[in-house]
Amino acid sequence: MTVVEYQDAYKKSHSLNGKIAIKTMKDLKAVFVESGKLAADQVAKTTSAGLSDITSGAWSSIEKQLQSGADLISEALEKATPLTISDAYKNLLNVDNKYIMDAVKVAGVTEITKLGIENIGVGINFTLLQIQAERIYSDGYTFSDRVWNTFFTKGDKKGLPSGVNGDYQYRIKNLILTGQAQGRDSIDIAADIQEYILKGKDEVFKEGRYGKLIPGTGQYKRRITKLIDWRALRVVRSELNASLQQAGIMEGVVNPGSTKLFDWVKTSGNPIDISGSHNASGLRCIDLQRNSPYKQEDVPSYQHPSCSCSIRPQLKPVKDFQNELKDWVPGNNSELDNWYNDIYLEAQ
Ligand SMILES: [Zn+2]
Repeated sequence: MTVVEYQDAYKKSHSLNGKIAIKTMKDLKAVFVESGKLAADQVAKTTSAGLSDITSGAWSSIEKQLQSGADLISEALEKATPLTISDAYKNLLNVDNKYIMDAVKVAGVTEITKLGIENIGVGINFTLLQIQAERIYSDGYTFSDRVWNTFFTKGDKKGLPSGVNGDYQYRIKNLILTGQAQGRDSIDIAADIQEYILKGKDEVFKEGRYGKLIPGTGQYKRRITKLIDWRALRVVRSELNASLQQAGIMEGVVNPGSTKLFDWVKTSGNPIDISGSHNASGLRCIDLQRNSPYKQEDVPSYQHPSCSCSIRPQLKPVKDFQNELKDWVPGNNSELDNWYNDIYLEAQ
């Protein structure tokens, strides 16, 4: 594998992350549907109980179901996110492993095996998930906060739910209130909830179904997002991107063919990464790319939600790496020998 092939493979592995996130969201969608059914059934019950309006007693039953549904979603998201990261990391790991093993074969070294290299990756995967669980974003929230919070944010985004759990309850509640204000009966509102979860807001509010919104109803409607699972998707993507930036650094650190310098690579086509978004020191992703390469300790940290930039290790010329391998005699105290003792053997 040449350096150029390595770079292409890194890019390709990075481009698969979007698909991996979408697959996770497909699985999570089923949980959203299940949760929505809990709320919808409870709303429908108010009609079968002969209530023309949703009474405060009925509301408290609905709220209980909203909470149960939101908890199902949070649990599923909490489980799915680390698996998603491991899936994506595997692709990255394969690139480094192939690069190393190709050079090992050329050099005819037998002490270093494919399995041995893979064992290094097992340790990195574990560390990545630990970092992911402990990461605190610039807004002060951790992953767990983003999944479970039910309270509303202060400051800039005042009044918006700060976590997926609260967000789900808030949107569905506003949908019920909109329907109620429109005089729709409970059976119809129950159907609206399920349709909203499956197909989105536009489908529910399509022409002819809801009349001209009664004054005051618009504010509820505005509080319903186009898609109920948007927030969960953002959490998955942010965790995935941030973890893979970390993974790029860790892969470079353990790859004996790397120079231990790192490039910040902007994803072409992601407008968020091209302009607009700045980090704390006012640098945009494009500036970070221009300032590459970085030493391990200087690599900028995760920039902004939806930043999909990647971090790619720089490599020594492949011939130099192959010669290092050829010249290596176990115990000769070379850079490679230190790597073999401190990283390779440590991971076995
Ligand atoms: Zn970026």
